[in-house]
Formats: sequence, structure tokens, C-alpha cells
Amino acid sequence: MVTYECLMPRCHAEVYRRHDVCEDCWEDRRGQLTALPDLYVMTYAMLTPGSRIVDINQIHVAAVDPGVPINLVALDTLTWAVDRLRGWANWALSRQGREGLPLGYTMGKRFLMAVRTLQAYDHRFATTDFAGDYVLDVWTVYRRLVVQCLSTEPRSLMVPCPVCDVPTVLTRHADEYAQCLTCGTEWPHSQLPMLRRQTQKVVQQ
Ligand SMILES: [Zn+2]
Ligand SMILES: [Zn+2]
Repeated sequence: MVTYECLMPRCHAEVYRRHDVCEDCWEDRRGQLTALPDLYVMTYAMLTPGSRIVDINQIHVAAVDPGVPINLVALDTLTWAVDRLRGWANWALSRQGREGLPLGYTMGKRFLMAVRTLQAYDHRFATTDFAGDYVLDVWTVYRRLVVQCLSTEPRSLMVPCPVCDVPTVLTRHADEYAQCLTCGTEWPHSQLPMLRRQTQKVVQQ
């Protein structure tokens, strides 16, 4: 049987369809979707000097005062995130025979509605030819928000490497992936829960 490599960055798991993702990377999207609304709010707070954390439903980028200096990367990230996820959410709704998300509302509310829709219905994408593209899009939205508002310092996982047993495993670039500095083995984001479980084992011993 012909196999392919999982579409996600740094994941080398085998998959059986071209342009697909492995089971772990498919499951990993859930945590990303859960984190998205808070990341959206935090990124909005980076948009202009003096911005504060506000309720996501009140976020409306079109309402930013044009006289204020603006973080264009954050702006682009916020608008692009809405566009990408609304597209997928509307597709999920159309597969249910339902109408797309209503226009109007603030940008933050539109984003939240898209995320909630995907949380409810995206399992239906799992068996389609677009599952890989979808997971990659969620990941890209998630990563763009993460690098806007979280520290990208490497962090030690304090765990013996599953390959060489030396405790030099780091997560890099705000958990984009993990790497062992001794043997060079890398793990995709979807394997971080597996690595962290090893930490708990060490603590319990
Ligand atoms: Zn994978
Ligand atoms: Zn190692």
C-alpha cells in the first residue's frame, strides 16, 4: 500500500492519502481551536499602544482610530484569521444543509462564531480530501496569533529524551515543535502532550 507523510510541519507519521494528516495531528487541532478566542483577544491588545484586553464580542478592527499608530502585522493576522476560519465554518454549515454565518456583527464576534461552528461540526471534515488543508489552516491561524502575543523563548521540558534518555528536550518558538539538543530528534506540536506525560512520570517516581 502506498503511504505518504503527514502534512503537518515536522511530523513524519505515515498517512494513507496524499495531503492528509495523521491521527495525532488531526486531534491536535482541538486544543488550537480552544485556545483561539483568547489568543485573538491578546493579539487585539497588541494592535495599538495602550490597547487593553476587552471582551472578544467588542473587538472591531474597523473601529480603530486612524490617527493612532497601528501594528500592521497584528492587524493582518486578525483580519486574515477571520477570513480563513469563516470560509471553513461556512463550508461546514453548507455540508449540514444550513445557511452560512450571518454577516454583520463585530469582527471579534464573527471570529468567535466561526470557531464555535468548527468546534461543533469540523469532525465531518475528517474523512474528506480537505482534512489536511483544514488542519494546516487552523494551525497557521493559531501560529500567527501565538507569535504575536506569546513568548517565543525555548523552554526546557525537563524530560529524558525518549530516544537518547538525556534530559535536553526543549520546545522551541512558542511550542511550535520540540527538539532534543543532544540527539537532534524533533517532534511536531501534536507530540508535545506525549512528551509532557513523560515529565509527569518522572515527577511521580
Ligand atoms: Zn502528523
Ligand atoms: Zn535525544
